[in-house]
Amino acid sequence: CGIIGILGNHQVSPQLVEALKRLEYRGYDSAGVATVDDDGRLDRRRAVGKLVNLSDRLVHLPLPGHAGIGHTRWATHGAATEANAHPHLSGPVAVVHNGIIENFRELRDEVTRLGLQPESETDTETVVLLTAWHLGQGLDPIEAARATLARLHGAFALAFLFEGETDLMIGARKGSPLAVGHGKGEMFLGSDAIALAPFTDRITYLEDGDHVIIRRSGAEIFDAEGRPANREIQQIDVGA
Ligand code: GLU
Repeated sequence: CGIIGILGNHQVSPQLVEALKRLEYRGYDSAGVATVDDDGRLDRRRAVGKLVNLSDRLVHLPLPGHAGIGHTRWATHGAATEANAHPHLSGPVAVVHNGIIENFRELRDEVTRLGLQPESETDTETVVLLTAWHLGQGLDPIEAARATLARLHGAFALAFLFEGETDLMIGARKGSPLAVGHGKGEMFLGSDAIALAPFTDRITYLEDGDHVIIRRSGAEIFDAEGRPANREIQQIDVGA
């Protein structure tokens, strides 16, 4: 029920968990993080229950990297198990999602026919499988995410992270909130300004239908028609 994304200059795993703690007030049943390490390797850790279970997992199995995404899940499709916890991952792409993909059955049938095998019961996993398939067809990460977003019906806030891409994160929102945080040589994505408060108070709220391409140098926002969009940066004081 909460999303965080960081392209940072520090090890992001502890920062991701710190931000997820600030989203606990929304409620959740499981949590997880994924990072791209400095060699471009994409990996994840997930745990059912309280965030402390995820932190414990990270103590025993650290997840290095300066780029990462995190999630607290409030299950809508599939039980609150580790297999259903986010980030969902398929080959070179990881995704966290809040909301519901209404047409996931149709998409799941489609990706299954294409030879991809779902490993969870979630609606979310179809997003990651479809993106992986587009990547396999030769699309670059931005094109692959866009081709996938064009197929989704429902309500979502999404963050994408890609293997081999240490300076790229893609966000999208439709019906669920998502904000971009602007740091100094660091960039953030979050469900709200409260999650981002430890890192920055300079926030851009995405509008419905927007997607954003984030690098450490800044964010490019596009509207529902795919046109470059100007969204103002606001100074938000929620108290860190
Ligand atoms: N529908 C997704 C799931 O059940 C996301 C739930 C959420 O918003 O946390 O995994």
